[in-house]
Amino acid sequence: MREAAVRLPARNGFEEELTALVGAVYASHAGLADRARALEQRALAAGDRQYAALARLVVADVDNRGGRQNQGIKAAHAELSAAGDRLVVAKAHAVIAGGLWRLGDNAEAVKHAYEADRLLTEDDPLGLRVDHAVILAAQVNDQRLGRVSHEEYRVAQRLADRLGHPDLITANLNNWAWSCFRENDQPTARRLARQMQEHSARSGHPLNTSCADTVARVLMADGQISLATRILEDALAHAPSTDVDAVPACLITFAEIKRAEGDVPGALALLERCRELTRRDDVPEMDAIALQLLATCHADLGNFESAYREMVEFHQAWTVRRTEQSEALASVTQARFAIDEARRDRERFRELAERDALTGLWNRRRSDEHLAAALAAGVSPMSVAILDLDHFKRVNDTFSHEAGDSVLRRVGDMLRAIVEPHGHAARHGGEEFVLFLSLDPARALTICEQVRAAVAAYDWSGIAAGLRVTTSIGLTALRPGDDARTALARADAHLYAAKENGRDQVVA
Ligand code: GH3
Ligand code: MG
Ligand code: MG
Repeated sequence: MREAAVRLPARNGFEEELTALVGAVYASHAGLADRARALEQRALAAGDRQYAALARLVVADVDNRGGRQNQGIKAAHAELSAAGDRLVVAKAHAVIAGGLWRLGDNAEAVKHAYEADRLLTEDDPLGLRVDHAVILAAQVNDQRLGRVSHEEYRVAQRLADRLGHPDLITANLNNWAWSCFRENDQPTARRLARQMQEHSARSGHPLNTSCADTVARVLMADGQISLATRILEDALAHAPSTDVDAVPACLITFAEIKRAEGDVPGALALLERCRELTRRDDVPEMDAIALQLLATCHADLGNFESAYREMVEFHQAWTVRRTEQSEALASVTQARFAIDEARRDRERFRELAERDALTGLWNRRRSDEHLAAALAAGVSPMSVAILDLDHFKRVNDTFSHEAGDSVLRRVGDMLRAIVEPHGHAARHGGEEFVLFLSLDPARALTICEQVRAAVAAYDWSGIAAGLRVTTSIGLTALRPGDDARTALARADAHLYAAKENGRDQVVA
């Protein structure tokens, strides 16, 4: 009885590590991809394909946030089409949402964010639920024109608080505050920014550059310039790095503060620092914004020639960014199509491998699998019948082998029409067919009788003048304790009896 009290650690600690990784994505990317790959290896070694795929999706997420959306989205798409696993599919949608959003395709991103959220239930790992709720709230509001939709943010915040992960808590507060700030709801933005600061002070987790940027913007609008400056300086000096555009965005905000204070040379220095990063890490969007502000600063100083040069460069950079984004989107769309094609091919091949070439019915392999599965699942009611064409050798001998083939095909069509509404039909080889009927014995008998009568009454003269075809059928209901061998042996014994009794009949 003691065993009942002992609980295994949840999936070798995979769930805890995944939650830690999902949270770290919002806090620091240093060494994160390696940690995710290590989790993948451990999961694979333990035979846990689900957590291996989830770990790979963390790598894809880090790629997206590192400016490699092309790679991230493609990897997530590959997981999406390979997976039958609900959690993996959900996480893949979440990663695709983030990647597409970073490429500027908000309309598509929000659809994936919905899927990611919808696929998870109460019982799923809380870390994933928080992650997907945070993404959904951000995407729904990014899409939105007009008022902020607070409900998604509230849901995400409740989940994040329940999980108690400091980085996920501030991540959602950050998105929420930013939405409010952008929609000019300054009081709510201020309240949320304060919560972020308080939470950071309480947990000892410094606000990262992405959060600091929001808080600084809110404070700036409030005239609290020195506090905004301090928060930006703190984040730039101490907070670990996350998304590739976070530090440049922070530097731009900082430069705007300097310029507003009249320190234009200070602003220029920050913008040059920003452009070093945007060029090094290839962040054309931030580079363009920095250039625009550079031009404004030069104009402030009366340096119109430089201002003009920066503006020209800005327009070029903006064009490059637009081109790169649309190229990346096109390439992602192409990859998505290729992956879907590959999946369709795989399904087509599997289909082919499971079908009898002559009749298109299930082949023996598929039929055996189906019977084994039905027995294992205890499907009830379920009847199995073996159908054999009578004196088929004579058909071949009297008419032709081609005529025989035509008869087999025609019988296949009849089985599809009569049997498949109630179950499945398979050709086991030669002129022998197996029928599965999810019906009680009396109704199964009716269907078999219908098949027998249809074959006997069919006008076969279209294949060969004078051709007549009849069938014998042995039917049995599956019984508790049956295995495939006993069930088929009973049907076969009934078939033998039907033949003995003069053929063209059903024996049950
Ligand atoms: P019974 O009523 O006792 O079943 O007699 P039968 O002649 O049908 O039985 P038997 O098993 O002796 O003969 C089956 C014949 O089915 C032998 C073979 O020529 C024919 N046959 C098996 N597969 C095919 C096929 O794919 N095409 C054609 N045309 N004939 C086939
Ligand atoms: Mg036969
Ligand atoms: Mg036979």
